[in-house]
Amino acid sequence: MQGKSSNENLSEHRKEDSEPEQKESNAIEITRLVLVGIVATLSGIATYEYHILFPFDYVAIITVLLGGYPVFKETILSLRHGRINMEVSMAVAIVASLLLRQFAVSVLITFFVLLSEYIEEYAVDKGRQTIVLLEKSAPKRALVRRNGSEAELDIRSIQPNDIVIVRDGDRIPVDGTIVVGSAFINQAAITGESQRFEKNAGDMVYAGSINESGLIEIRTEKVGSETLFGKIIKLVEEAENKRAPVQKISDRLATYLVEFAIGFAALTFLLTQNSISALSVVVVAGACGVAAGTPLALVAIMGKSAKKGVIIKGGAYVEEMSRVDTVVIDKTGTLTFGDPVVTEITNFGDNTKENVLKYAALAERHSNHPLARAITNKATELGINLPDASTSSSYLPGKGMISEQDGEEIVVGNNLLMIEKSVRFPKGSERIVSGKEKSIVLVAYGGQVCGMISVSDVVRLESKRAISDLKKMRIRTIMLTGDNERVAQAVANQVGIEEVHAELLPDQKLLIIEDLVAKGHKVAMVGDGINDAPALARANVGIGMGGGTDVAIEEADIVLMTNDLQKIADVAKLSKKAYRTIMVNFFGTVSIDGLGVGLAFLGFLNPLLAAGIHVTSELIFILNSARLIR
Ligand code: ADP
Ligand code: MG
Repeated sequence: MQGKSSNENLSEHRKEDSEPEQKESNAIEITRLVLVGIVATLSGIATYEYHILFPFDYVAIITVLLGGYPVFKETILSLRHGRINMEVSMAVAIVASLLLRQFAVSVLITFFVLLSEYIEEYAVDKGRQTIVLLEKSAPKRALVRRNGSEAELDIRSIQPNDIVIVRDGDRIPVDGTIVVGSAFINQAAITGESQRFEKNAGDMVYAGSINESGLIEIRTEKVGSETLFGKIIKLVEEAENKRAPVQKISDRLATYLVEFAIGFAALTFLLTQNSISALSVVVVAGACGVAAGTPLALVAIMGKSAKKGVIIKGGAYVEEMSRVDTVVIDKTGTLTFGDPVVTEITNFGDNTKENVLKYAALAERHSNHPLARAITNKATELGINLPDASTSSSYLPGKGMISEQDGEEIVVGNNLLMIEKSVRFPKGSERIVSGKEKSIVLVAYGGQVCGMISVSDVVRLESKRAISDLKKMRIRTIMLTGDNERVAQAVANQVGIEEVHAELLPDQKLLIIEDLVAKGHKVAMVGDGINDAPALARANVGIGMGGGTDVAIEEADIVLMTNDLQKIADVAKLSKKAYRTIMVNFFGTVSIDGLGVGLAFLGFLNPLLAAGIHVTSELIFILNSARLIR
């Protein structure tokens, strides 16, 4: 029943979680509730059935003053901050009923206030449950080997390069690489998908995941809040404390309702001279369904998503996501696996294929681009020796790389880059280049194109269902890519996207997003974060794929820990549901309050009935939000 800002509410709960006396305060709460309930029942029966007042009215007064202590305390606090909330109106109601010598009524109101406060707290706790579970599953201790002896240490004393031993059934305490052994690892804590992967020496493992079988030794790379899991927890916690615009609206609405109730009660008294009607007016109006239901709905969705490997960085993005009408998707790494492989090397003139690959690899070895990885992987695979990395390369986003070898320039990238660098094409090569339906990387050395590398990336076919789900929700999907038109079209056909923009430079992608936003669309941009950061930031909602990369985690508003586009449709659905729930709470509360106040004004309600309506409606709206937890 706290009409106070519901976010403070959440952080208060958090504090309680970390304090050991939480159980005790909970016990006090319940005891108080039960005692006040018993007195309320007894004095109700005594007053209305047997018309005995003594000594029940004295017991009632004492019960109200003692049992209502939390309400009075909260009222004084609110008034001191110039806030009017539910506690204030309930305190007014309690005091007024005492003054009107309606003792049984005042105990009953006190009981109802305490009851709904308890229910609200319970619901909010339930809503946070997934988040609390996430926090709790962060490993606290680790078995470490130092100087030949093993010891179980607090996670905070573990440092990079420490060797951590993880037995089967244990949770992995750090991010690091396996140095000895192999195991089946379940990364559900991070990806939300309960799947076991075999991991061997040299593989990376992440804190929070579980070693389901096998014994491994890990060289620690990151500890605590630096780990991927630590970052997720931090994001989720921060998300909880960020206030969504709709929360401000609901808090304001709650305040209006309370102010209205108090004002209208005064008016009722002036017009009808009936203090009981006036009291009923104050009592009947409830605002907590609004004030508590909103953050509860948002937290429920965020917790539910986090469990499935989707980190939403704040209620504001649940709200934005519920209105999204356009989803813009970057091709590489999003619609495709982003893990391309070299399928063909073509050499022109008297260059050998090895030379073409060697030049390309030289330029690409400092690049993180998927195409670069494909090329360097191929070079390693074929055992091509690269001279020492003394030369540096520069990256032209959306175009390619430029480097130098033996005083000659190496240019590796697309046609645009070749034109920009005035590279010559050998005779006949243009025809070969334009006939390809693969991603093409052109390689030039000493001002002349010496060959090209065809690279192909596998399309994620699960994207197809995601696109069709989005379409069913009447959300428009658009694909953007820097890759060539043919490849773009081929991928689009496979996943079912109709609108394609290809051969774009990063700032052209940005322009398209800006244009859509300017036209009033609510745009979600999905990218892998590697070079999409500006576009992610400019969209209403930036969705980062590839949760493993820091860029995606930092730049995105919503992070998909698994690269499954289906989750976007899921989040959109959940968000719409949350928004609808919140709106139902808004309109429901306003209607019931309006109706109740009207009936009370006309003298159809007594304070008991009014209190009943108040609590019932509140319960309904809180439960309405709580439905989303499941
Ligand atoms: P996408 O939209 O597919 O994410 P990018 O904007 O990263 O693509 O790149 C667009 C195009 O620029 C690529 O298709 C490729 O032709 C070229 N390119 C970008 N980076 C590189 C690189 N490191 N090596 C070669 N070509 C590159
Ligand atoms: Mg990209």
